[in-house]
Amino acid sequence: MIFGEVRHREPTRMKRPDRDPRFACVACGTPQADDLPIFLDLEPADQIERHALSDTTVELGGILLGKECVDPTTGEHFAWISRSIEAKHYANTRASFTYTHDSWEEITRERERLHPDLDVVGWYHTHPDFGIFLSHHDLFIHQNFFSQPLQVAYVVDPIQRTRGFFRWSGDKMVQVGGFHLRAPRSQRPALVRMADELEDLPRDPGSTGGGSLSPRLEAELIKMLNRPAHSSSGGNSSTTAFLGFLGGLLIAAMLAAALGLAFLSARLGNQAETLAALKQRVEEDSAGRRLALDALLEKIGGDDPARFVERYEQAARDRDDAKRRFAAEQSISETLAMRNKELETRAESLAADLETARDKLEKLEAEAKKAVALQERFDELEQTAAEQERQLEAQRPIVESVEGKQAEALVSSLNLHRLAAYAGALLSALLALAAAFLYYRAIPASEPVPSEPGRRRDSQA
Ligand SMILES: [Zn+2]
Repeated sequence: MIFGEVRHREPTRMKRPDRDPRFACVACGTPQADDLPIFLDLEPADQIERHALSDTTVELGGILLGKECVDPTTGEHFAWISRSIEAKHYANTRASFTYTHDSWEEITRERERLHPDLDVVGWYHTHPDFGIFLSHHDLFIHQNFFSQPLQVAYVVDPIQRTRGFFRWSGDKMVQVGGFHLRAPRSQRPALVRMADELEDLPRDPGSTGGGSLSPRLEAELIKMLNRPAHSSSGGNSSTTAFLGFLGGLLIAAMLAAALGLAFLSARLGNQAETLAALKQRVEEDSAGRRLALDALLEKIGGDDPARFVERYEQAARDRDDAKRRFAAEQSISETLAMRNKELETRAESLAADLETARDKLEKLEAEAKKAVALQERFDELEQTAAEQERQLEAQRPIVESVEGKQAEALVSSLNLHRLAAYAGALLSALLALAAAFLYYRAIPASEPVPSEPGRRRDSQA
């Protein structure tokens, strides 16, 4: 594996290109005096830019080939990048581990086939709209696979159109102030064009401020990173870890880029709509105002100012009247609303009364029916009574008729006979007494006269 091969590599002795008259060099950014000089050839510079723009929804990457150099005259180290090889991500599925492994093997084969004389001087990858920085995971990769002192990392943001190189400074990675584009002297115009293109200001430098990955993406990457980090530290497993990381990076980058793009396109869409609406409104407003103004000017144009003021005052008075009328109408409508409320309450109360009255009416109707029945019964009884009276009246002549009189006479005769009977009985008793008296008289008066009181009593009777 290539990473095993690159250990303890000696720099190539070579003159700095910007001091070599065969080459044209144009600085991008501001290379600092204490920076590692980095020379990027026109061809890989162009190829990396095209690769970065080929898909801004994912993170793309590859390796940088060239030479780690030392200038024989000054002893100064510098990095020269003359080729780049893309990692081919797209042929793969989400089984990113295997895929990345294949991809890396492909890169290795390609390097050996096309550029066996070149060294791996670093790697590049894109941060679509993330800005230029090295994440923890980028650092992990660099520390583990590009640990040579002159190996560099190149980050390109194709959305914000920024880019930057990172180099070793002790055991840290720091961004250099700038780098040099390099080409044969004959290609100088193309080199200048490329430099101008790369130096273009970012479209929205304040939007991310070169910030960091989202926490979610960061977590994804850490997860991806931890898997190979726990395995053995052999060269093969290190490569495996790197490849695994690249796979994770792809997935995370796709997610982040998709989110970023969706957000961006939504924001752009909103802004476009707002602008269109604003434009239309401004146009309508200005047209309407101009029309109104024209009409007004035309109207008052012929009149003298005094007349205009008069009309204005009249209009103001009309407006005030209208306001007052409106206020009055509002008050009336409020009163009406209150009245309406009262009426509603009363209507409710009346409805309740109506219900009660209806109940009562039903009861009364029932009672009235009973009364009618009683009346009928009463009439019936009255009729019966009248009938009986009529029958009695009819019997009265019979009572007062001859038979009646005869019966009366019979009753009188019966009474006479009774009297006669009483008189006869009394007479009989008297006679019996007289007979008894006479009998006792005829008998000698030897006997006392105990019968004297009895006789006197008899005569008195
Ligand atoms: Zn990165």
